[in-house]
Amino acid sequence: MAENIEARHPGPREALLQLIADTAPAMLAYFDAHTWRCRFANAHYARNFGIAPGDAIGKTVQEIVGEATWQLIASNVERGLRGEQVRYERAVPQPNGPPRHIETLLLPHVEDGVLQGTVVQVTDISRHYYASQQLRDSEERMRKFAEVTTEAIVMHRNGLILDGNEALSRLTGHAVSTLIGCHVLDYLSPEFRIYALQHMRSGREDRFDAAILHRDGHRIPVEVEAKTMPSQDGPYRIVLVRDTTQRHQAQERLDFLARHDQLTQLPNRAGLNQMLRQALSQAGLHQRTLAVLSIDLDHFKTINESLGHHAGDLLLCEVAQRLRASVPAHDLVARLGGDEFVVVFTDNPCPQAAHSLASHLQRTIEAPCCIEGTHLVVSPCMGIAMFPGDGQSPEELMNHAETALQLAKDSGRRNLQFYTPLLASRAADLLTQELMLRQALENGEFELHYQPQTFADDGRLAGFEALVRWRHPQRGLVLPGEFIGFAEARGLISAIDRWVLREACRQMRQWQDEGLTPVAIAVNLSALEFRQRDMAREVAQVLQDTGLDARWLHIELTESTLMHTSGPVHDTLLALRQLGVGLALDDFGTGYSSLASLRRHPIDRIKIDRSFIADVPASTDDTAIVTAIVQMGHSLHLDIVAEGVETHEQLALLRGLGCGMIQGYLVARPLPASQARAWLARQSAHTVTDS
Ligand code: C2E
Ligand code: CA
Ligand code: CA
Repeated sequence: MAENIEARHPGPREALLQLIADTAPAMLAYFDAHTWRCRFANAHYARNFGIAPGDAIGKTVQEIVGEATWQLIASNVERGLRGEQVRYERAVPQPNGPPRHIETLLLPHVEDGVLQGTVVQVTDISRHYYASQQLRDSEERMRKFAEVTTEAIVMHRNGLILDGNEALSRLTGHAVSTLIGCHVLDYLSPEFRIYALQHMRSGREDRFDAAILHRDGHRIPVEVEAKTMPSQDGPYRIVLVRDTTQRHQAQERLDFLARHDQLTQLPNRAGLNQMLRQALSQAGLHQRTLAVLSIDLDHFKTINESLGHHAGDLLLCEVAQRLRASVPAHDLVARLGGDEFVVVFTDNPCPQAAHSLASHLQRTIEAPCCIEGTHLVVSPCMGIAMFPGDGQSPEELMNHAETALQLAKDSGRRNLQFYTPLLASRAADLLTQELMLRQALENGEFELHYQPQTFADDGRLAGFEALVRWRHPQRGLVLPGEFIGFAEARGLISAIDRWVLREACRQMRQWQDEGLTPVAIAVNLSALEFRQRDMAREVAQVLQDTGLDARWLHIELTESTLMHTSGPVHDTLLALRQLGVGLALDDFGTGYSSLASLRRHPIDRIKIDRSFIADVPASTDDTAIVTAIVQMGHSLHLDIVAEGVETHEQLALLRGLGCGMIQGYLVARPLPASQARAWLARQSAHTVTDS
């Protein structure tokens, strides 16, 4: 090659060589080792220094590149011309635009051990230079970003950790330096390792949830996102690990809220459904029974409305606590809303066991409680459905327990009812009954009967108690025992009582207008609606409309009306007293009223419940109770009426005790208006004598 290059007058081969060299994209030149002068240069090389290719021949490097450039490269060129292989890069400023970057390679040409010359190869590496600079820049940016971000970042190749940031060290509890070289999966909670490995191997870049193991052993939920990055040493993965503890906690809180009742913290309907479904599948698996108990508090609405919602809430919490504390932890207790609770007995109960467990809960709920200084007693109604007999699914069992509950409620307060398939049809019957009762109100199918109340000593008529009857188109006369409880449960009692009050007052006034001796009329008002309405105003209105003087009207309340010592009930009683209306406490002895509550309220009369009268004087216990009630009544200056007096012995005893008035079949049964009128007409002459 040296010979060819040396040829001063190029032949065809040299011309071809020149052509090839000129066509090559590189800049090529050859310098003689002895003279340090150019012996060959291709067109690119010459053009790069602004001269014609032929003009380079015979020139020194210094002459070709010019003085300024020579200063920059002289040391490299001299080393090259002395036989060293040299490689150097330099920037070549451009008049417009960024500088070009060129790389120069000086290769010694040695023949038979003697240095002949130096081949110069200059390559424009601008593109490569700028690309790698960009990479350096982006790596720098990445490093800075990794430092400041709170998200943990780890870089690994094939799982082996290359680097990580401070946040990674915080998240794992290991210093970054100890992490390097370890396998990323070692820091992942075991259950996520296989998935993470597949994710990594397939080069996926989508997010996934996992958990990492902190050095101290606790699991931290994280979200992982990885990207594959190209690099000269082979692609690596850069992984973002985001601590999702807070998100998880928020999610758990949301899940809890969705499944629990906020007030009592018990599971709500959704929570119960889920738990019941699990309990059912367990029970099914082991062939065990379950009892689903639906619970509803009697007259809760009234408590809520008379004492306020806050007190109502406290009461619900109290009931929730009692229920939860009364059953084992594995039994379910839930609140479906309002005053509706569900308890599920899971200990393989037979119906008898379910019954006694339910009765126990009933007593637990009924124990008096004190809400904001007010002593309250609530009684529950309960409906029970058994698994597997009464249903297989949560929905079916709950529906059937609720059907049973509805029937329990319709039969009055404090009831417990098992579901039977017959109930479903009875439920339909009851719906018809409700419809009929509503129609009865519209069609005026109610009528009043009047039962005389007489003075015990001389038998004079003191007054009547108005007792409602339903003149049923098919069944004839229906007694209140059959529909009052039902009417209370279905919200119809208010309308009935309103009618009774007005009709009784109207009748009394009419008899007075007819010239009959005025006597008192006692009207029963349900505890339930008594508290819901402004009774005092309503009574005043009725008295005004009918023209009856207030002193002839007595209102009979039950003890449950007095359950609340404060608030609207008490105010209403005072207002009624103010009107001049008498207030009688009905069925005395069967409820919870204490002496104290009698004193607190403006009651002027008590009616001894007929259950105490029935067995006197034979029963010494009952005789003692009746004696005590009468004496207590005297000391409190209350009028006393004994109910259900049927025999002369009873009358004699009551008279002996000094009981003021009696009411009962001995005197008369409740009488239709016409017969009562006759009674009234005869009253001055009439006496009941103890023959
Ligand atoms: P109550 O207020 O205790 O009424 C007395 C009940 O005892 C009446 O039953 C009456 O017929 C019955 N009775 C009276 N004397 C005797 C007797 O010597 N022996 C026996 N075994 N029973 C006697 P009735 O009329 O069936 O009423 C039952 C209950 O229905 C009443 O009990 C009362 O709580 C309720 N009630 C009646 N009318 C109304 C009304 O207009 N409104 C409301 N809210 N309840 C009413
Ligand atoms: Ca009564
Ligand atoms: Ca009574």
